Amino acid sequence: MTPTRSAQLMDGTSLAGRIVEEATVKAADIAQRTGTSPCLATVLVGEDPASVTYVRMKRARCAKAGIQSRLVGLPAATTTAELIDTLTALSNDPAVHGILLQHPCGPHVDERAAFEAIAPEKDVDGVTMHSFAAMSFALPGFVSCTPGGIMRLLEAYDVELAGKHAVVVGRSAILGKPVGMLLLAKDATVTYCHSRTADLSALVREADVVVAAVGRPRLIRGEDIKPGAVVIDAGYNPGNVGDVEFDSARTRAGLITPVPGGVGPMTIAVLLAQTVAAAARQLEVQES
Ligand code: NAP
Repeated sequence: MTPTRSAQLMDGTSLAGRIVEEATVKAADIAQRTGTSPCLATVLVGEDPASVTYVRMKRARCAKAGIQSRLVGLPAATTTAELIDTLTALSNDPAVHGILLQHPCGPHVDERAAFEAIAPEKDVDGVTMHSFAAMSFALPGFVSCTPGGIMRLLEAYDVELAGKHAVVVGRSAILGKPVGMLLLAKDATVTYCHSRTADLSALVREADVVVAAVGRPRLIRGEDIKPGAVVIDAGYNPGNVGDVEFDSARTRAGLITPVPGGVGPMTIAVLLAQTVAAAARQLEVQES
C-alpha cells in the first residue's frame, strides 16, 4: 500500500512572530535615536462589531511592538468629504507615520476616494492607487498587507516562482489583484480566476501555485490540486474554515498553509513592519 503523502505546513504563526519581533526591535531603535515612537493612526467609521474587534486587535499588537496607535473614531454617518478631511489631516500630521482606514466604511462612503486621501508614504496598509501601481511596476512602496504576507511566506519556504504557473482565485483590490501583481513581479505566469471563470477546476489542476482568496468555504477541491503544488489559502470563513478542502488538498500538495495559522497572522505582521519602515523613512533613521 502506498503511504498517504502529506504536505509540509507553512507556519504563518511563527514567521509572523519573527517579523513582529524584528519590527519591535526596530521600533525601539527608532524611539531611542529620535525620541519618537512609530505611530499608526487607525480610522474607524461607525461601530461595526467585526471592525471594532479588528481595530482593537491591531492596536493591542501595536502596543506590544512599541508602536503608538491613535484611534480616530468617527460616527457612522460621516460623509466621504468629512472622512477625506480627517485622512488629509492625518497625512499632514508629522506625529503620524502610518494610516489605516478600517473598511468597510458603510455604503454611503466612496471608499476609493477616501483611500486616495492617504499620503503614499503613510499608506502602510497598501490601499492607495499609488501603492497598487508600485506593486504592479515592481517599484519600492508599501504592499497590501495580506498579499505582502503571502509573498513573505513563499520566500520563507524557498518557493521558486520564476516560470511557475500561479493561479489566483479572487480578484479583490486588497487581495487577489495585488497578490497576482506581486507573483508576476517574481516571474510567475499568473492566471486570475473569479466568479465568472468558466472552469475553475481545470485551471486549478494546472497550477504550480494556488492562491485561494475568495471567502467561500472549501471552494477549491483537494482532488484538483496538482501533486506537489504550493497551496496558499487566504480564505477565512466562519468556523476557522479556509477556501480550500484542507484534508484532501494536503494529501496532494507539496506545501500548504493551514487555516488558521497560515496567511492570517501574516497580515498584521506586515502592517506593523510597514508602519515601522514608514516611521524610519519619515524620521530619517538609517538601518543600523
Ligand atoms: P471579496 O472582496 O469578497 O472578493 C472575493 C473574490 O472571490 C472576488 O473576486 C469574486 O469574484 C471571487 N469569487 C467569488 N465567488 C467565486 C467563485 N465561485 N469562484 C471563483 N471566484 C469567486 O473578498 P476578499 O476581501 O478578497 O477576501 C477573500 C477571502 O480572504 C475572505 O475569506 C476573507 O476573509 C479573506 N481575507 C483574509 C485576510 C487575512 O488577513 N488572512 C485578509 C483579507 C481577506 P468577482 O470579482 O467576480 O466577484
